[in-house]
Amino acid sequence: MSELEWVCPKCGSAMRINKGGAFCADENGCGFRVWRKVAGKELTDEELNALVRGRKVLALGLKSKAGKSFNAWLVPGAEGVEFSFEGLPGKETN
Ligand SMILES: [Zn+2]
Repeated sequence: MSELEWVCPKCGSAMRINKGGAFCADENGCGFRVWRKVAGKELTDEELNALVRGRKVLALGLKSKAGKSFNAWLVPGAEGVEFSFEGLPGKETN
């Protein structure tokens, strides 16, 4: 097991980690979760943990529903992970 710390950012409870993702273990229905699989990509424990800690994660080679490959920042939001396309490496405009 890793030494990563898993604390729910919403309620401070411990989180459960499994191959599906990271889930708040709070029994009062906090419901915070981060799925491990995002747009066809499996996140590592380190990436999951960064999201739980409120850090954005650069995800390369995601697959859209139309089957197109794309890159995005994964940004932790209140309801889970959201995509951001601002400031992606290699996409800066001068
Ligand atoms: Zn929680």
